[in-house]
Amino acid sequence: MLSASDVIYVLEKMGTVIAENKEYLTELDSAIGDADHGINMTKGFDAVKSKLEDIKQKNIDNIGEILKITGMTLVSTVGGAAGPLYGTAFMKAALAVMGKTEVDIRDFQNIMEGALAGVKMRGKAEISDKTMVDALEPAVNILRESKDKELNEIELLNNVRLAALQGMEYTKGIQARKGRASYLGARSIGHQDPGATSSYLLLNTIYQTVEEIKGKDINGG
Ligand code: ADP
Ligand code: MG
Repeated sequence: MLSASDVIYVLEKMGTVIAENKEYLTELDSAIGDADHGINMTKGFDAVKSKLEDIKQKNIDNIGEILKITGMTLVSTVGGAAGPLYGTAFMKAALAVMGKTEVDIRDFQNIMEGALAGVKMRGKAEISDKTMVDALEPAVNILRESKDKELNEIELLNNVRLAALQGMEYTKGIQARKGRASYLGARSIGHQDPGATSSYLLLNTIYQTVEEIKGKDINGG
């Protein structure tokens, strides 16, 4: 179980990781786009960080509300394709946990189902179009397939981020069919998709941060 303050902590870590990878994401986007993905994402998550301060001050503990505010902030501050896409992802994810003050791994599955549906609704991309969907959908599939397996949460989150990593790597070999990179046609082959990379980074952050939180629990801290 994660509390609302744990979720806030995960969102803050996402902002830190995105900022640390600002140049890397922008470099990837310079090869097949317009060299702004890292800039866009950092701007958005910086704005989210200051909203999270508000949320903490107001003691908002509705996790759905926290994710909704995050999504609305991303939509309104991030230019380019990624802002509306990630914004919609967080807003759809919010609906899955509206009113909840704690979330478990099945809630996380519902969050990820909402996020993926939001991205696909907004961007109309499918798997193999060389977008963030190539990282997100395999990650959701791991959660779907995990229902009857006896994995603990950390093992499952590790498998989720590994699936996203594999999806991200897979984007290198394929041609873009959606977004700005699609204008390059076959010349987009050989380059890793920036949006799939940011999606992997976010899922990796969830894994690492939940592991950190749970580690503290075990040690009584
Ligand atoms: P822009 O392309 O407008 O400059 P960004 O550079 O911030 O926006 O984001 C680019 C990323 O957005 C791409 O790498 C891709 O993963 C993702 N993307 C673009 N179009 C779509 C779409 N229609 N569906 C899903 N993801 C998309
Ligand atoms: Mg761009």
